[in-house]
Amino acid sequence: MEKTLSIIKPDGVRRGLIGEVIRRLEKAEIEIAAMKMLHMTKKEAEGFYAVHREKPFFGSLTDFMSSGPIVVMVLKGEGVIAKYRKLMGATNYKEADPGTIRADFATDIEKNVVHGSDAPETAAEEIKYFFSELEIVK
Ligand code: UDP
Ligand code: MG
Repeated sequence: MEKTLSIIKPDGVRRGLIGEVIRRLEKAEIEIAAMKMLHMTKKEAEGFYAVHREKPFFGSLTDFMSSGPIVVMVLKGEGVIAKYRKLMGATNYKEADPGTIRADFATDIEKNVVHGSDAPETAAEEIKYFFSELEIVK
């Protein structure tokens, strides 16, 4: 059974979009196997986005991701990585398909409301970053 990491980013939490994102997951019949709220430090955000360390947007992205509380979730199901990426929409909300979370709510290429893992290996790494085995529903 495939798993992926979902994050409702600080802009999503600040703007009262937690319920909206979860409603869309439930409507799509995506199973939530773990969920919690936390506020990352700058260092923790840098660790999470380490793959983007060399990118010009790294400093701004990690400032943003540590600017307020986030909701992290483990999603589970067949093909859930691609299924959730489809619900999210493209990184750049201007290119996101209509009806996706990012097309409907993102305000900026950085402040795009949600995160989702992009492959099984990154999903496993990202889930481990936030959750122990005990915290994930079997
Ligand atoms: N990002 C940004 N500027 C860019 C590309 C990405 O600020 O030009 C931010 C954005 O918040 C994005 C995150 O960095 O969600 C991670 O980028 P990635 O390419 O992994 O996009 P994602 O997987 O989130 O769609
Ligand atoms: Mg990514």
